Amino acid sequence: MHNISIIKAVSILILLVFILLLIINQQGIQYWFNDFGKVSQSDLQVYFLDVGQASSTLVLLPNKYSILMDTGSGDSAENLVSELQFLLEQNDVQDIDLLILSHPDADHVGGTVMVMDAFQVNSVLRPKVYALGEEVTYNFPLSTTYTYRDAIEAIYAEPNCQVEYVANQVIVQSDKNFSATIEIFAAEKAEYGTDTNSFSPFITLSYASRTFLFTGDAPAARETELLNRLAKEGRRLSVDFLQVAHHGSKYSSYPNFLSAISPKYAFISAADSSHPSQTVLRRLKEANVQQTFVTKNDGTIGVGVQADGNFVIRLKKNFLDIPLLVILLSLIIFVLMKFIYVKKSPRFVDLRPKAGRR
Ligand SMILES: [Zn+2]
Repeated sequence: MHNISIIKAVSILILLVFILLLIINQQGIQYWFNDFGKVSQSDLQVYFLDVGQASSTLVLLPNKYSILMDTGSGDSAENLVSELQFLLEQNDVQDIDLLILSHPDADHVGGTVMVMDAFQVNSVLRPKVYALGEEVTYNFPLSTTYTYRDAIEAIYAEPNCQVEYVANQVIVQSDKNFSATIEIFAAEKAEYGTDTNSFSPFITLSYASRTFLFTGDAPAARETELLNRLAKEGRRLSVDFLQVAHHGSKYSSYPNFLSAISPKYAFISAADSSHPSQTVLRRLKEANVQQTFVTKNDGTIGVGVQADGNFVIRLKKNFLDIPLLVILLSLIIFVLMKFIYVKKSPRFVDLRPKAGRR
């Protein structure tokens, strides 16, 4: 009887501790158990954040310069902020140095208000698209959504934050130990009809002989635009890590584009039933992409690149599912306690008739 109480008490205690850990720090458990920490030990870190059917990507350069590309949707904003807090804390980073908003759609700017509230953001590159209520100076189109209006209001309300329009530019971050180059290929036309996706810039990030390409929701017409520009400048773009455009929609990532940039690994931020499209998954395979990751299945995906060009890709969710682990552990403890109870009780019942006969 004494033993059973101790086993019971210890089991319940272990379970409680696990549930408590789950509640207070699921991020941390996933992080350490899944070897995800390897990414944050890398010199360059890129995180394709799990924000559902939306998009948000965090880049941390070796000098801790931080870039956030898009802010996901309103639905995912709370999760985004807590994940960003965790990742920045791991790296002793306080501010977001540069926020790039690719285009006005709600699944890319929906978390902006909460991000601006939670962090000091030092600079923002915004689309050449006006929001409701903005003073019109240039011949930019207007997006009439309230989400975009709120996002634009939030970036201009941020203290000590420099806001500029996305334009072609090269940003070099370097010190005596490293050099990283970010190149922005802005949309070339001022108008793309009603298609706001077309305003998404292409952004390359090069470090230690590795190149990332970020695409926002850019459609095929913009892919052609980029290829034409590169051809005109006599340049070739070879991509190691591709953020697949428009959540894996078949109206982007055309075969000619993929074969021109020959990506080695592909990353798709998507969570609904029609994204990523099977067509795009097939095109990626046909373009000899070694592996395609999707946030829907893999959760947040981290890529860490070392100064010598070696890299690691780690998934936050795949290896260890904490809620499932708690359910399993509860079941084991339940069965264990049942087993101990059943085994002990017959002896207890047997004693009674014997005592009666005497
Ligand atoms: Zn989108």
